[in-house]
Amino acid sequence: MSTTIRTQEEIAARVKALEAIMIEKGIMTTGAVDRLAEIYENEVGPQLGAAVVAKAWTDPEFKARLVEDATKACAELGIGGLQGEDMVVVENSPTVHNVITCTLCSCYPWPVLGLPPNWYKGPEYRSRIVREPRKVLREDFGFDVPDSVEVRVWDSSSEMRYWVLPERPAGTEGLDEKALAALVTRDSMIGVGPVASTPPGQA
Ligand code: FE
Repeated sequence: MSTTIRTQEEIAARVKALEAIMIEKGIMTTGAVDRLAEIYENEVGPQLGAAVVAKAWTDPEFKARLVEDATKACAELGIGGLQGEDMVVVENSPTVHNVITCTLCSCYPWPVLGLPPNWYKGPEYRSRIVREPRKVLREDFGFDVPDSVEVRVWDSSSEMRYWVLPERPAGTEGLDEKALAALVTRDSMIGVGPVASTPPGQA
């Protein structure tokens, strides 16, 4: 694929053209295209990854299986599919913080995070996060990683799609899986933000 930077309008035009060809050739129907867009807009999103993370926090055996083979472990929960065939979970610890990117294009684990945000696909994030991750996290995301913690950047590809298992926050011992999942943000699974300290809607 060419790495020429295109405008949103150009991309949209190309997608429309491809869609028209696939429908004309009988590879896809309009209904199937609409349904696929609807699934990734409304049904598949970071709430699925958050559920996986919460389960890993509460079930050490599941966590071991997740770190061993994320695609297989997610399949246990009925989560998988397009762009999630080879997912790898990288686990944060008190000494290591992980961040994901795709320097070449925009590879991303769709089944657990949904479609990637625009900044993830942009050339600026993709080039800078590799060169100066701490600076990007601080300046672009307001997220400070202490100097004592090593930052590791993982470059996804079509063969290997990484995502982050954040640390379970202190003070959440009393929360059940559902309440824990509500704390897990998309950005925390990309590695550019923290897990929320309180559920959404609470100060
Ligand atoms: Fe990519």
